Amino acid sequence: MWHATVLTIFPDMFPGPLGQSLAGKALTTGVWRLEAHDIRTHATDRHRTVDDTPAGGGPGMVMKADVLARAIDAALTPNDERPRLLMSPRGTPLTQARVEALARGPGALFVCGRFEGIDERVIEARGLEEISVGDYVLSGGEIAAFSLIDACVRLLPGVMGKEASAAEESFAQGLLEYPHYTRPQVFEGRAIPDVLLGGDHARIKAFRQSEAERLTRERRPDLWARHGSPSMGSTDTHAIVLADADGIIRLFSPGAKRLFGHDAKAAIGQTLDLIVPPDYRERHWQGFRAAIANGSPKYEDAAANIPILCRDGTVTRFPGRLVFLRNAGGRAVGAMGIFLANDAYSGPPLPDL
Ligand code: SAH
Repeated sequence: MWHATVLTIFPDMFPGPLGQSLAGKALTTGVWRLEAHDIRTHATDRHRTVDDTPAGGGPGMVMKADVLARAIDAALTPNDERPRLLMSPRGTPLTQARVEALARGPGALFVCGRFEGIDERVIEARGLEEISVGDYVLSGGEIAAFSLIDACVRLLPGVMGKEASAAEESFAQGLLEYPHYTRPQVFEGRAIPDVLLGGDHARIKAFRQSEAERLTRERRPDLWARHGSPSMGSTDTHAIVLADADGIIRLFSPGAKRLFGHDAKAAIGQTLDLIVPPDYRERHWQGFRAAIANGSPKYEDAAANIPILCRDGTVTRFPGRLVFLRNAGGRAVGAMGIFLANDAYSGPPLPDL
């Protein structure tokens, strides 16, 4: 059972919002388990003090290392392999990928800071991993823990209904989600987009995909830049092939030689047929010429698994993207392909080109 243990000086805050709705139902049906332990019970003095003034001076108070360490030790079960997370604005920004990984695991220990922060030494001594829920400052870690636990619990098997399919949501594919509509068909003069009412599932899917891409491009250039773009990794894993407007190879990088096998010197001056598999040539040249001529390349800026004819005669798909190069007048003067080794690619699944 997915097991969340929270360390806080406000245990009465829990389960709070996590006791309602989907998470709350899953809590009562035993899909997951939540314990909130009061850090204060591990204080030793009469006033049950958990904080003290900062060494070196300055404002606020600091949560004491010794008290918190005792609370952590008491909360962990023998051989507890759960990650120990400290809610902290200094932490690694939380992502859906991390949430998914946590939800797949056994649960976690959530340490909620208060005051100015917690003594650095307990972070080191207990191997706490700092996680931030955003670039803003909360007054305590509890609300951050609510967010993180909620995000994990809704992914546990059986918690969400089929309708709330996690696979299509924001971030799951590295994109924001497409917009939603429901009845009435016209609201204050605004109609539901026609395509959604037509019942053509392929068109609906394409519409949603393009809306998700548009929204991500407009609102989150940071996500968009990462989306489907092969993470570059070490520079010698990627291959770059540059061709002029006639499709003659002008540059064949060392990575291209490594990935595709062709000798760089011999490749330069040949047409792209060197690396375009015979079955694709007709399509390739049609697309290439159209892109050069009218400047609306269909494949531009979309990452895909691109088939390459390698030197040994085999055809292998490599994650990559094609970019058309333009001069100042907007005229296409050539094209560039950038490819990664398959094992160097770590992004979302790519479509075949
Ligand atoms: N002085 C600290 C902020 C302390 S806020 C600083 O400037 O970094 C008090 C507690 O709230 C923190 O110890 C942490 O547990 C929690 N907290 C505040 N903002 C947070 C955030 N963005 N993500 C996760 N936890 C946060």
